[in-house]
Amino acid sequence: MANFSIRYGASIRKRYRAVKADKQATYKCDMCGRGAVKRINTSIWKCRHCGATYAGGAYTMTTAAGEVAKRLIEDLAKKRRTNG
Ligand SMILES: [Zn+2]
Repeated sequence: MANFSIRYGASIRKRYRAVKADKQATYKCDMCGRGAVKRINTSIWKCRHCGATYAGGAYTMTTAAGEVAKRLIEDLAKKRRTNG
């Protein structure tokens, strides 16, 4: 269990460094396929091309918490298998 908190902290620190660049980056739009999705507000992303809006992370399209949760679930599944 201790491993989880350590990994969580490391992931957040790593994400924090990337936040500045990610905030200004343009992302690919799922609706029209153009790379025109920009952050317009906290957690709100909008495609300049087709106007589609997305609710994402505050600073990135995918949230760090989501990635961490996904990894934890994978780890738990692995542990459950080995522990029988
Ligand atoms: Zn679009």
